[in-house]
Amino acid sequence: MTRIFSGVKPTGHLTLGNYLGAVRRWAFVDQQRADALFCVVDLHALTVDHDPGRVRRLSRQAATLLLASGLDPELCTVFVQSHVDEHARLSYLLECVATDGEMRRMIQYKEKAARERERGGSVRLSLLTYPVLMAADILAYGTDEVPVGDDQTQHVELTRDLAVRFNQRYGHTFVVPRAVRPEVGARVMNLQEPTSKMGKSDDVGPGVVYLLDEPDAVRKKIMRAVTDSGSGQDVVYDREARPGVSNLLEILAACEGGNPEALSGVYESYGALKKDTVEAVVELLRPVQERHKQLCADPAYVEGVLRDGAEKARGMARPRVDAAYRAIGL
Ligand code: ADP
Repeated sequence: MTRIFSGVKPTGHLTLGNYLGAVRRWAFVDQQRADALFCVVDLHALTVDHDPGRVRRLSRQAATLLLASGLDPELCTVFVQSHVDEHARLSYLLECVATDGEMRRMIQYKEKAARERERGGSVRLSLLTYPVLMAADILAYGTDEVPVGDDQTQHVELTRDLAVRFNQRYGHTFVVPRAVRPEVGARVMNLQEPTSKMGKSDDVGPGVVYLLDEPDAVRKKIMRAVTDSGSGQDVVYDREARPGVSNLLEILAACEGGNPEALSGVYESYGALKKDTVEAVVELLRPVQERHKQLCADPAYVEGVLRDGAEKARGMARPRVDAAYRAIGL
């Protein structure tokens, strides 16, 4: 059976981008068709300035939201990364296979490090090695497929390179995984800045729709989304020339299970498009929010799911990570 692994970072509240780009597919497609593991990757939240209490709270919230989004512990394994030591153990071995040049070429590292330096801060070494830990997350489980949004495909490429290199040098140990991206929704952009992605950790601004946003907040954010000036007001799908409108068309299409090209030219005004997008997003989030409320009333259940998930994950990862230790000479 195909093995799937994917994760979400507890660096902020989960967004509509996380849901459309990843989590929805995990719940409605992946867990049904494969042996899937979904992880709150809390170690990755330590790569930037963080508040310990907040990371702990956000990890629990992210896990609860994954369950609220439809991940079913009967069908898949849901757990927290730091509960399974194998991730960190394997990461070190992979650091001995990766090169610093490779790490410095990662786009996300370059962007985040530049931002950190602009703010006058220092860059944590873990920000540079983050993709190696991500490779460990994936390779520890013999993963075949990694369902992710566009922003993560470079990291999955690196994971493949490290798996191939390790296997060549030390004998076949790892499955070489591949990234799988959704056709629509793989890159949801910030509503106020439609040339940057809607990221949970980037800002807490009006351009990000969170999974727990009340309908009124969703309405305000989408109605105030920037649209594109100049070259007419046609509501056409053109990512380059019309990033704002195209983003709304993409969100609407993703919510409705259609494709944005088919919606191109259908709307006569930006206002009408925004109104339908608000409705679609509110409807999309409603069941997730209802289930989230129920789960919050039963923290012991979430606790139990995470405990069982970690135990199961540990059992899956340990033999392969032990084999990697032996293969590399330890
Ligand atoms: P974030 O950038 O929000 O911190 P994570 O690294 O936690 O995201 O990613 C969790 C999953 O959500 C990944 O598969 C990632 O590709 C996907 N994802 C994150 N942001 C977006 C977005 N704006 N559009 C589509 N997918 C996204």
